[in-house]
Amino acid sequence: MDKITQGGCLCGSVRYELRGALRPVVACHCTQCRKSSGHYVAATQVASKDAAIEGGTLRWFRSSPEAERGFCSACGSNLFWRRMDNPFISVMAGSIDGDTGLRMESQLYPESAGDYYDLPDVPAIPQSELK
Ligand SMILES: [Zn+2]
Ligand SMILES: [Zn+2]
Repeated sequence: MDKITQGGCLCGSVRYELRGALRPVVACHCTQCRKSSGHYVAATQVASKDAAIEGGTLRWFRSSPEAERGFCSACGSNLFWRRMDNPFISVMAGSIDGDTGLRMESQLYPESAGDYYDLPDVPAIPQSELK
């Protein structure tokens, strides 16, 4: 039986279940992640086929030609990121219910980080090294 991870938005309208092992958390300091989250993004990832999402308030915002971001239109929670050409979905780690059992292991775009916080003490990796 695969492990099931549950999560959802602040108001509870959007709920999801992720099946199987989750990727370690990656932080992203890019301008889009900072604008959409209000800070920086920390996300895990699974194959889209292993993510069951429900909730009529889920909306997708096309944040770039390559990718879109999923959020709850009722409470504004920032939940998902996915590339149009990629069978994986990133899930914001803070939206997972309770303990995640995950660790942040790497970060993207540290050169775009805000000037008001210290970078996490994890290696920076080029986005091209992520699947
Ligand atoms: Zn909500
Ligand atoms: Zn980003």
